Amino acid sequence: MTHPSASLSLETQAVHAGREVLHEQGIHAMPIDLSSTYPVQDLDEGGRSLEAMAMGGLPIGSPVYSRLYNPTVARYEQALAQLEGAEECVAFGSGMAAVTAALMAAKTRGNHIVAVRPLYGGTDHLLASGMLGLEVTWAEADGITAALRPDTAMVIVETPANPTLALLDLDDVIRQAGKVPVLVDNTFATPVLQNPIAQGATLVLHSATKFLGGHGDVLAGLVATNHEWAVELRKVRVITGNVLHPLAAYLLHRSMPTLPMRVRSQQAGAQILAERLAKHPAISAVHFPGLPGQDPKGLLGRQMKGPGSLMAFEVVGGFEAASVVMSEVKLMTPAVSLGSVDTLIQHPAALTHRVVNPDAREHSGISQSLMRLSVGLENPEDLWADLEQALVKAMAKVAAHV
Ligand SMILES: *Cc1c(COP(=O)(O)O)cnc(C)c1O
Repeated sequence: MTHPSASLSLETQAVHAGREVLHEQGIHAMPIDLSSTYPVQDLDEGGRSLEAMAMGGLPIGSPVYSRLYNPTVARYEQALAQLEGAEECVAFGSGMAAVTAALMAAKTRGNHIVAVRPLYGGTDHLLASGMLGLEVTWAEADGITAALRPDTAMVIVETPANPTLALLDLDDVIRQAGKVPVLVDNTFATPVLQNPIAQGATLVLHSATKFLGGHGDVLAGLVATNHEWAVELRKVRVITGNVLHPLAAYLLHRSMPTLPMRVRSQQAGAQILAERLAKHPAISAVHFPGLPGQDPKGLLGRQMKGPGSLMAFEVVGGFEAASVVMSEVKLMTPAVSLGSVDTLIQHPAALTHRVVNPDAREHSGISQSLMRLSVGLENPEDLWADLEQALVKAMAKVAAHV
């Protein structure tokens, strides 16, 4: 299914992927198909088409009904698959919807999952909740092989991890997993900086709400994978109704041409802020792969094309100081989520990772001092001025209490 343009550079693919057929149709901008239902003129053919889609395939003729297939969503799926170097991609209504669908698809192969912390708070919560009836073994990064069982259906990892920016060596993870499929949450890195499929991962997951949407106005999730898994994922989607709305798919596709530029420009700003934070007296630690000594396995250049634009830092004065920073930033938005064109700052222990077991949270380094920063496209000098004035106020508050 790979399009000939897959040999083009990433920037060119980002502009053209999924748009190849528009010329033939005599149009330039992408159309949006909002149909909830589709005419079925030939009942035999319509029935066969419905059956094919219920089995996880594509329509043969009429798409019949939009929960089964939507051409606007399918166009974006094909484009994202191309960027990730995957055979196919399946879109869902949110990142967590994509995680849920991947776990439900995994259940057809076995009832056991191996997961490495830290993971996104929602993913951790879903796995720990037992809600899907899966057994989960939490493994250390070097203990994956030991955690495998005959009924292990999937190994789940995230790198860089949300929110600590902990890095995993994917070659090592995939080697340890052996024949068991590995799912990599690639939300932080995006296909611009990291391509887990090329390293042997079977499934790549995105909260497309983040960089792929990039403008803070879409909620979506994606799984890029091989044909076999895509069939299982589409079966789950048809049954559960866990679909992506075509307007959301349109917005994601519209954000795709600027993805490489956004990611690199945001990354350049993050490098500047991380270096300055590392020297600031209000900060006790900065976690950013682009700082000296923070990439001991040498993953930058080998696995990742750059450190990205997310960082975590620890403020002197713990929760109290962090809450001053949250309330005093004026240009940055104090908000969860990440990967947007504007800068977002948040406190994981109180917000995104609140639902994680407290012991596991501490073990992963998600302390009350930790803040997460997602650097946007603003001029880094303006961002630094904003962050610095907030840090000065945080230091003053802490000093007033000792
Ligand atoms: C946000 C996020 C998710 C969940 O995605 P939603 O779109 O919020 O449901 C999953 N993984 C990571 C790494 C995330 O940052």
